[in-house]
Formats: sequence, C-alpha cells, structure tokens
Amino acid sequence: MRLVLLGPPGAGKGTQAERLVKTHGIVQLSTGDMLRAATAAGTDVGKRAKAIMDRGDLVPDEVMVDIIAERIGRPDAGKGFILDGFPRTVPQAEALDRLLERHGLRLDRVVEIAVDEAMLKDRIENRARLSGGARADDTAATLHNRITVYRTQTTPVADYYRRKGALSTVSGMGTMDEVSAAIGAVLMAARTAPQGVRN
Ligand code: AMP
Repeated sequence: MRLVLLGPPGAGKGTQAERLVKTHGIVQLSTGDMLRAATAAGTDVGKRAKAIMDRGDLVPDEVMVDIIAERIGRPDAGKGFILDGFPRTVPQAEALDRLLERHGLRLDRVVEIAVDEAMLKDRIENRARLSGGARADDTAATLHNRITVYRTQTTPVADYYRRKGALSTVSGMGTMDEVSAAIGAVLMAARTAPQGVRN
C-alpha cells in the first residue's frame, strides 16, 4: 500500500503513520525525520536545512524531491510506504506523480487529518514541553509560521488530490484510536478501488 498522510503540524500524522507501519508492515517515510537525521549527521543538506527548519519555513522543492526519489527507490519501500510530511507543495506533488509513474506505481490514497487551530496550538505546546526542547521548531515562535506555511503552501496540495478524487479527509479531533479507526475505514474502502490514484 502507498499512502500520503496530510495534515498540519500537531495533527497527529507521525503517530498515525507509526500505527499504520505496525498494522500494514510498510515503511514510514518522514521527510522531517530525514532532514533532522541529515542535520544531526552534519551533511551539506542538513546544514542548509537547519536554519530553514528552525524558522518553520520549507526546504526547497528540488532538495526534497531528490531526497524522496532516493528513498522510494530503496528495497524496503518496495512493499509500500506512508509518506509523512511530503508532498508539502503542489510542485512536490507533481514531482511525486512523475516519480511514481517512472516506477510504474500509483498511490492508493491520500488521507488528510483535519484539526482546528486552537487544538493544534495546544498539542504543539504540549509536544514542546514533553520533548524538552528536542525539536527546535516546536516552539510557540515557529508554530505560528508553520501553521501559516501549511495553510498557504500545503492546503493547495489537498486541493490537488481532491481534484483527482484521491483525497479522504478524516477528523483529527478525536482520540488517537478514533482517528486510527477513521483512517482504517478509509483504507478499507480504498481497497475496493484497485486501480489506485491516477498519476
Ligand atoms: P515535520 O517533521 O514534517 O514537521 O518537518 C519539520 C520541518 O522540516 C518542516 O517545518 C520543514 O522545514 C522541513 N520539511 C519537512 N518536510 C518537508 C517538505 N516536504 N518540504 C519542505 N520542507 C520540509
């Protein structure tokens, strides 16, 4: 199964992706985790990305597309994957379509987790407290920017997939179990549409 999980910071994408990894035996491809690993390893990409991430802005599309192209080509992605944090712009979504087409693959579904902004702020502030500053971008200062960036750059990605008939929106306002159940129902329905999403 190949899925994209969309949702603003604090929507619970990471948690839900981890659960899907367990239930479906596929890999989670989190571009945020990949960038944080590159930063920790001190690679050129990591060094360039750090300041951008700390501000809550987006790393350039061509950098992200190269990272994801390399990652999707690895053997462990062969059984399927969950994209968590990619695509975040329409050009990234278009590049993903071309990439999948080259591999003869299609997405099964794009799932958007919708959460209202007041709840997002609470969740991110909690995450900042719990992580004890482990993530430099989980601060109130960058939160506002990350939500604005999501609204302006990533909401059009949801529209892009909606136009293709690929998007399912689930409420992210419930408990983790409720959100997991809603995603499970979407994926069950997607299985009855075996042709997948048009690239
Ligand atoms: P995340 O862990 O998904 O919240 O991502 C953390 C940060 O990494 C984001 O705020 C961006 O600065 C950067 N990032 C992650 N994925 C992407 C992407 N697909 N495009 C651009 N920047 C990204």
